Amino acid sequence: MQPGKVYLVGAGPGDPELITLKAMGVIKEADVIVYDNLVTKSILNHAKDDATLIYSGKRQNEHTMRQEQINNLLINLAREEKRVVRLKGGDPFIFGRGGEEMQALSSESIPYEVIPGVTAACGVSTYAGIPLTHRAHAQSVLFVTGHLKEGNEAELDWEALGRPNQTVVIYMGLNAVPSICKNLLLHGVPSSKPIAAVQHGTIASQKIIVGTVGDLPRKVALSKLQSPTLIILGDVVKLHSELDWFRATLPIEAHEFSGTHATLDQLVDSSDIVF
Ligand code: SAH
Repeated sequence: MQPGKVYLVGAGPGDPELITLKAMGVIKEADVIVYDNLVTKSILNHAKDDATLIYSGKRQNEHTMRQEQINNLLINLAREEKRVVRLKGGDPFIFGRGGEEMQALSSESIPYEVIPGVTAACGVSTYAGIPLTHRAHAQSVLFVTGHLKEGNEAELDWEALGRPNQTVVIYMGLNAVPSICKNLLLHGVPSSKPIAAVQHGTIASQKIIVGTVGDLPRKVALSKLQSPTLIILGDVVKLHSELDWFRATLPIEAHEFSGTHATLDQLVDSSDIVF
């Protein structure tokens, strides 16, 4: 690890053991770690005792640090010859603003490296027992954001989202579930199309609501799911009941986890984040 350099690192989706060896290597040596919402707390325990840990937040309606401030912080720390880790949930380049931060560094000629992470689409679907592709059900996968600005619903290509033989993974879609399902129905998706919402994927408080485009909004409202939650649309969702392996690995008490207490290894802050 070099001083005066920024390492943009993906921390994975929740389970702290899903981080890469390469990421762990730089976390252990960093002088400063600037971490986001959705980074599992225990990962930070691997930092040096004298490392500076800076929370940069980013929650809906409460941007702890504005993006420009974060960019400037990274630039200034690198200029002070610090070994800087910029730690993000999942993968930094999937709805993580990693590209913007690296552009800011690049424009100031600050050296950087990027270490990918397991993105929520992969980690969360796997722990939910939902294979994103399957020869019988889906030959392609789309990753989209459900964070729609009010009155701006048409931002997504609903026709493309509604095509058969594919899986659609919707990040930041919890609050938009009613609008997402309404738009899919309007664009000809059958109301029986399987769709699931997965809360807190890969950790003990994981909770899965399986439904259809017709009934998911009601089920989600009744279940009081919390963020982060990932939405998965497609026939592969039907496989969950057969392939739900992760639940079986949890202690019995976690099966009835209500989502209101600390998890075994809680995400730093589970409020919905915006990107
Ligand atoms: N860069 C991240 C995504 C950031 S956007 C990545 O690659 O995973 C934040 C959204 O990701 C959340 O709103 C939620 O939809 C999804 N997400 C992240 N972690 C999750 C988890 N453990 N369980 C369910 N959804 C998750």
